[in-house]
Amino acid sequence: MQKGTISVQTENIFPIIKKFLYSDHEIFIRELVSNAVDATTKLNTLANKGEFKGELGDTTIQVLLDEERKTLTIRDRGVGMTEEEVMKYLNQVAFSSAAEFLEKYKEDGNIIGHFGLGFYSAFMVADKVEVITRSWQDAPAVKWTCEGNPEYSLEPAEREDRGTDVVLHINEENEEFLQKDRIEGLLKKYCKFLPVPIQIGTRTETYTEGEGEESEQKTREVPNIINQTEPIWKKPPTELTDEDYRNFYQELYPFSPAPMFWIHLNIDYPFNLTGILFFPKLGNTLEVQKNKIQLYSNQVYVTDEVKEIVPEFLTLLHGVIDSPDIPLNVSRSYLQSDASVKKITGYITRKVADKLKELFDKDRANYEEKWSDLGVFVKYGMISEEKFYDKAVDFALLQNVDEEYFTLDEYREKVKELQTDKHNKVVFLYTNQLAAHDSFIQSAKARNYDVLLFDQVLDNHFIQQLEYKLGDVTFVRVDSDTVDNLVQKDESAEAVLSEKEQDKVKSLFSELAGEGHQVQVKPLSPEDQPVVITRPEFMRRMKEMQALQGMDASMFPESFQVVINGNHPLIAEKLLRMKKEEKRQSLARHLYDLARLNQGMLTGADLTAFVRRSLEWVQ
Ligand code: ADP
Repeated sequence: MQKGTISVQTENIFPIIKKFLYSDHEIFIRELVSNAVDATTKLNTLANKGEFKGELGDTTIQVLLDEERKTLTIRDRGVGMTEEEVMKYLNQVAFSSAAEFLEKYKEDGNIIGHFGLGFYSAFMVADKVEVITRSWQDAPAVKWTCEGNPEYSLEPAEREDRGTDVVLHINEENEEFLQKDRIEGLLKKYCKFLPVPIQIGTRTETYTEGEGEESEQKTREVPNIINQTEPIWKKPPTELTDEDYRNFYQELYPFSPAPMFWIHLNIDYPFNLTGILFFPKLGNTLEVQKNKIQLYSNQVYVTDEVKEIVPEFLTLLHGVIDSPDIPLNVSRSYLQSDASVKKITGYITRKVADKLKELFDKDRANYEEKWSDLGVFVKYGMISEEKFYDKAVDFALLQNVDEEYFTLDEYREKVKELQTDKHNKVVFLYTNQLAAHDSFIQSAKARNYDVLLFDQVLDNHFIQQLEYKLGDVTFVRVDSDTVDNLVQKDESAEAVLSEKEQDKVKSLFSELAGEGHQVQVKPLSPEDQPVVITRPEFMRRMKEMQALQGMDASMFPESFQVVINGNHPLIAEKLLRMKKEEKRQSLARHLYDLARLNQGMLTGADLTAFVRRSLEWVQ
């Protein structure tokens, strides 16, 4: 037997391995199974090149558990190692890359998926590791042993077959890794799509023997293979059916509703990336859906936290991205500024935009139908990603209160004739509360104005973004002014009331409105309401912004305008001509309360009094 010290230059890394990665011990299985897969793939390559002439045979990788001996073994029939190779690869290459990884890890522990520790990750869970290996070349088998310190031993071993057994003597704190269910779960998490079959034990399969009446249900033990060696994202899209994609989605996210559509990503220059991104039905929400994209590197699962790799709005999508060109052995904070990651995010963003454009162009009606599940996503992208905005202006839709859909250009064309203000801005009227704003919407429609519906989660931001980007458009909420003023033109309607009458009406209502609110008399149409309360657009937005910034809303009191329609018969005739002052005040109160009711402002004792008064009048 030969004994030696693995490395004299570097500090003893074993205690650090145990301590540093404590929370992520489970990744050892990924590292070791990946090595077994690599060794097998290398042998396949040698066979293809004609350098390996023997029988490949069954190259299934075995994960074996022995509870009594407390060992976990990963067995492959790959290239194996000669004695020299063990010295070189395990003692030097693997050791120094583990040491290098730990150096980086010490600086910034946030390395994506904790990739790169490699073979020595075995010592996170094992006190002793044995490697029994025999090369595909004609060389004797050897056994390498290391007990979690820089000393190792190397001795001749008995092994008929080529390949490698890595035997982990699992330590007490990590006995969970001796349970089959736990290991099977981890294999399914990290190794589900690796290109070489991986078996853990057997499973019971039911099958039918015989035919017709003679047939019998029987069971048998079959190898329990945990992976699919050819995941569908690696296949050419032309070979796949919609059914294949849907099944794959169900497999990734059991119990989730079917996706709306998907994009198959496939590029090999200037970087290599494959994958499938699914569009889930989002509805009107940004919650719960995130962190569903799984990142793979050559079919090895890395992480489902991809926010440094794809733009934030794309994290609403589901699916798989597989790219060996995403650097994994670096800290997450570094990733965002990495040039190849930038290229990759640019590519994905473009592909997503192209897909949406294609759907829009191909079948507009269908696209409109999907808009309620798609809108939030598109808006999020337009708000947060310049590049996406530039593409999405062509297929982002605006919905009006009559459930008609328009692109931004279409809509501008539709309304610009009637709805251009004196600053030459096209006024996009909108509501965010269809029911509450009904009377305002009806007034606007009576003028042939069109009203958009913006009642989704991101709409406030979306409106601001559109105003900023479009430049020639201004958004005005339908209750922000009286209808004659919604689209501000320089036109003054005729006043019917004399100035004296106006003053009288004004003082009556000023008393009701109290301090701080503007009261004015305006010659609206007799068809319009007698009293209208509006919330000026600018003031309302300021208040909304303050609320968003978490400021005390009461610091900025609600401000509204009371407009009295001097042309309404109830004002011009009834109110002004009343003889008894008491009755006049009572009518004014009622009209004012009606206006408040219309704005959803009439509550509490005022509402009760209003109802009581109304009942008295009906009797
Ligand atoms: P990496 O896999 O990133 O190269 P590792 O530390 O995991 O780093 O492994 C170091 C080297 O040890 C591998 O490159 C390979 O040459 C060798 N090795 C590890 N496991 C096996 C195995 N099961 N069969 C053959 N060689 C192996």
